[in-house]
Amino acid sequence: MLQRLGLRTAADLLFLFPRDYRDASQLLPIGELREEQPASVCGVVEEVELRNTGPGRCVLGVLIRQDQEHLRVLWFNQPWMRDRVVIGQRVLLSGTPRFNGGRWELVHPKLEALEGNHSPTKGRIFPVYPLTEGLQQWQIRRIVQTAVQEYAVCVPEVFPADFREQHRLWPIQRALEQIHAPGDMESLDAARRRFIYQELLVLQLALGLRRRQLAERTRAPTLPVTAKIDARIRRLFPFDLTADQDRVLREIAADMARATPMNRLLQGDVGSGKTVVAEYAMLLAIAHGHPAALMAPTEMLARQHLRTLSRDLRESRVRIVLLTGALSAAERRVAREAIAAEEADLIVGTHALLAEEPLRERLGLVVIDEQHKFGVRQRAALRGEQRDPHYLVMTATPIPRTVSMTLFGDLDVSTLRDKPPGRAPLYTYSGDESRRAAWWDFFCRKLAEGRQGYVVAPMVEGGEGEAVTAVEPLYKTLQQGPLRDFRIALLHGRIPVAEREATMKAFRLGEIQVLVATSVVEVGIDVPNATLMTIEDGQRFGLAQLHQLRGRISRGSHPGYLCVFGTFDSEESRERIEAFCQSSDGFELAEVDFRLRGPGDLFGTRQHGLPPLRIADLNRDEAVLEEARQDAGQLVLTGELGERPEFARLYNMVLRRYGAVLELADVG
Ligand code: ADP
Ligand code: MG
Repeated sequence: MLQRLGLRTAADLLFLFPRDYRDASQLLPIGELREEQPASVCGVVEEVELRNTGPGRCVLGVLIRQDQEHLRVLWFNQPWMRDRVVIGQRVLLSGTPRFNGGRWELVHPKLEALEGNHSPTKGRIFPVYPLTEGLQQWQIRRIVQTAVQEYAVCVPEVFPADFREQHRLWPIQRALEQIHAPGDMESLDAARRRFIYQELLVLQLALGLRRRQLAERTRAPTLPVTAKIDARIRRLFPFDLTADQDRVLREIAADMARATPMNRLLQGDVGSGKTVVAEYAMLLAIAHGHPAALMAPTEMLARQHLRTLSRDLRESRVRIVLLTGALSAAERRVAREAIAAEEADLIVGTHALLAEEPLRERLGLVVIDEQHKFGVRQRAALRGEQRDPHYLVMTATPIPRTVSMTLFGDLDVSTLRDKPPGRAPLYTYSGDESRRAAWWDFFCRKLAEGRQGYVVAPMVEGGEGEAVTAVEPLYKTLQQGPLRDFRIALLHGRIPVAEREATMKAFRLGEIQVLVATSVVEVGIDVPNATLMTIEDGQRFGLAQLHQLRGRISRGSHPGYLCVFGTFDSEESRERIEAFCQSSDGFELAEVDFRLRGPGDLFGTRQHGLPPLRIADLNRDEAVLEEARQDAGQLVLTGELGERPEFARLYNMVLRRYGAVLELADVG
């Protein structure tokens, strides 16, 4: 069972940090409970009843006895809880009591099975560990406690004493003891702080070493801007670059003028003009005779880029080649031959690009669109034997500060904040069912005026019994109902690429007025005349995704209108939709999203190829992160890390944990 949890050695147990704590300082007899005052209660399970209350609905009622008194516990629609309560079992429950029908009641309390007759001691704080099937909390608690008692003394300190004092860090043994069995809340905080700091410091040291290492590699081509090159590139754009674009381009050009490879993240809201900046950078490489590559996360996005670039560069002599997984064998051969014969200046593609060996030795610049889909490793894969290209990574999902300091900590960051001029306003509404008819009237009126629009739903087909809007049935409903007078088409990921391409082309040409789509429209479609959007089941989309979707209708000179329908019944979903309607600033929304959801899927360490954080939380621990980052910068800069023998242990820890993924093995 322990192996299933990844626990093999005593050290694994020592560093199995509790995921939560139960504060039994609030442990009360049933008779002393107070209305709405959080408390813990200990008792024996006496009765268990699971009742169905409708389709997909049930209530689990459990009666708990404590001496002569009883307490009722209820779980709604959580049938699996049935297996966690066993008649005769002693349990510890924590929740907020309510006096109801002459009896104290807890709804959805935290539940924990206790060992035999053991009663938790009042006043203690109990660690809560991850469990696996068949393993009880009290068992793992006892196992960890034994390991701590026997082996904590064997764990060597990582930090030199003066460093620890200076940073107010507890010694490791004391911190280990207290994190598993805290004497009080203050000790727990101090113990946790030590390990959080340690974890973040080790990560920041690794990133610092990587930056230093990258700075020492001088194998990239030097690609300086000259006045002549600058003028030639700017002539290709039908507009003047914004001040923001100019500023960011100066940062990029300064990097590209050096033989140290650029590693820069370019972030900016949808429509802020990133692609234009990337084009400039690619043309700069090409002007020096080095091909540039643009890598997109999907086939569709690669083709969209190809179209934009071909249009923007039709007056130039730049030869553009598409290289994606979906090309036919013959098409791919032609593309490859062009690359091999050095007849390709700009290669647009997907992952398939990574396989092109001859390309790698010559590339001047690689632009990667939508960073979060390409990890650290993929970036490394584009490097040649002899040479490094410069890297520019673009993301339209603004990244919260703490995340860019960690997961993107090896990149320099440039930010586009101002949008290009001449954008019409965009209005966002959240609609309930009563407004639906009025919304469709408005939608149709705008269509009749010549505008185009999207209708977005979360799924392709509805699952059985699922009350989620799916595009296929929705398409039929709209076709027969509200949109029957207009030319509408269906678009989703299961439609073959060629057919999708044809649909999008027709949409671009205005032959199709409305696309009924899944979130495939989220990226890459650029039709300025499309200014209307309806989103169904908005609660199913993340804030970042909603914002991306909205980006599709803020591209032109006509105002955009968006209505999000959905059921926002949790606190979180309400906050999310409110923030979305009130703010159109992607950076602000990213911070809200991050606060509401935590780093979650989008900013998960794993996706970036880094091992997961075990105790630090980028959301909560911003202050510690800041401190760790500064200290790490200092240690790397002064060279103390590699040179002072007292830091040898810390240094080894950095290499063990991050050496391979960040390719630090050959440092120092
Ligand atoms: P992003 O890639 O950040 O979403 P794009 O580079 O695609 O943004 O730019 C969005 C739209 O704005 C495009 O149609 C582009 O041609 C236009 N655009 C970009 N820069 C400017 C500018 N300086 N002035 C006017 N229009 C611009
Ligand atoms: Mg773009």
